[in-house]
Amino acid sequence: MTTRREFLQQSAILSAGIMLSDKMFSQSKNRKPRVVVLGAGLAGLAAAYELTKQNIEVVVLEARNRIGGRVLSHEIDSDKKLTIELGAEWVGNSHERVIALCKEFNLELFNNQFETHLIYKNEYSPSGKWGYSEEWNAKFGKLLAEFGKMSESQKRALDKTDWWRYLMNNGISERDLDLRELADSTDFGESIRHVSGYPAITEYAESSPKNEMDLKIRGGNSRLPHAVAEKIGLDKIKLQHKVTSVKQETKSTTVTCENGSTFLCDFVICTIPTFAIGKIHWLPELPKEKVAALNALQYSRINKHAVLFDERFWNDEAFDLLTDSNAHYFYHATKSQESGQGVLISYSIGDKADVIARQNNEYRKRIVADALRPGFGDVAEKIVRQVNYYWGNDPHSMGAYAIYGKDQWFTLQPVLAKPHRRVFFAGEHIADWQGFMEGAVVTGEDAAKAVLNL
Ligand SMILES: Cc1cc2nc3c(=O)[nH]c(=O)nc-3n(C[C@H](O)[C@H](O)[C@H](O)COP(=O)(O)OP(=O)(O)OC[C@H]3O[C@@H](n4cnc5c(N)ncnc54)[C@H](O)[C@@H]3O)c2cc1C
Repeated sequence: MTTRREFLQQSAILSAGIMLSDKMFSQSKNRKPRVVVLGAGLAGLAAAYELTKQNIEVVVLEARNRIGGRVLSHEIDSDKKLTIELGAEWVGNSHERVIALCKEFNLELFNNQFETHLIYKNEYSPSGKWGYSEEWNAKFGKLLAEFGKMSESQKRALDKTDWWRYLMNNGISERDLDLRELADSTDFGESIRHVSGYPAITEYAESSPKNEMDLKIRGGNSRLPHAVAEKIGLDKIKLQHKVTSVKQETKSTTVTCENGSTFLCDFVICTIPTFAIGKIHWLPELPKEKVAALNALQYSRINKHAVLFDERFWNDEAFDLLTDSNAHYFYHATKSQESGQGVLISYSIGDKADVIARQNNEYRKRIVADALRPGFGDVAEKIVRQVNYYWGNDPHSMGAYAIYGKDQWFTLQPVLAKPHRRVFFAGEHIADWQGFMEGAVVTGEDAAKAVLNL
């Protein structure tokens, strides 16, 4: 079977072939190339680290005043004992490169798995007391097994169907479909009506049993980008350097920032989200099909509303909860962190996220308390503090992560991944592990290797 990873490796070989035949790429054999990396998220940092190890001159340009991009840890209590994640939460058991980097930098990964409770139609069911019907479990197992034997053309056909329709066409019952919508939409950040069937099924057929919701970095996931940045050298990472233009000429490339600074280099590795790529002035212009792909790809809307409670009334460190309310999905964000207090994050997606993000904390408090009431009574009085972050309006990504819709995986991904002369692209949006930190790291490292191999 061709996994998504194998498909991407084939696309990368094709792209490299195109590049090597281009005379524009010949550079002086007497000196090492100079590389500018756009973005200090995990993709950009992984690329820069790979190059630094080979003594390549590298500069990382970052628009924000911090590194880490969509990895964003936050200390929520006044004693600074409790760290929560406003961006990426889980490291998956299959995420080999992230796990290897944590090992290299001596960052402890601890178990962050949960046993899911449910509030559905106003009724609370503890973990282990609810589930999909036996018929659906059997059917879904069969579908996942059959996926492993699918031909390329069958996979392409699956890409033309949305995940909701695929499940309907396979005879899912109304209740099972409701539950899949609630659970799977947390993975994609939008309703499953908006997700292509192909990336959706790979998510479940090629992931760890807990769907990569396995581990977390002790002290906060941001420790990883910070550790990588220190190895690169903090002087090489220029914060508040928003790139506005990339001009490739015969002998070199000039990268210009909003603050007026310019950087001359031989290669660029561009790891910024598609929305931001589209805002840059490219010379020569990006090919029309890349511009069309940038304009077509959507990013999901996730709102994280973190609520610090004066006690852990859920009485289970491994607590998470799916609800059919606007608060959507709750999880215990301070699992295995010692304190009398504890944080539940309400993780909402799509339109639900948009609604909550537009309101104030008084409204959000009511939404959270109403959603939890069927299982836990009135918890509003236990709230100490609330912190809200909406990725749908993040000025640098305008979304949480890319979401490939119907007929987009096989058509957009290869176009977005293709280099533009001496500019290589990386980032979660073009990764096999798309939507994950692992995808960011792997694509960053691959882009660096592509530069090194020229
Ligand atoms: C709410 C949420 C939950 C998530 N949950 C998980 C999870 O549980 N597990 C997991 O593995 N992943 C998760 N992810 C996904 C993960 O965070 C991303 O896949 C990964 O961090 C993306 O890294 P990146 O380097 O590709 O992009 P980014 O982190 O976005 O880095 C790109 C950088 O480029 C910068 N930039 C943008 N424009 C410019 C410009 N013009 N000039 C210079 N710099 C620019 C940005 O500021 C940013 O710092 C989650 C993400 C979100 C938002």
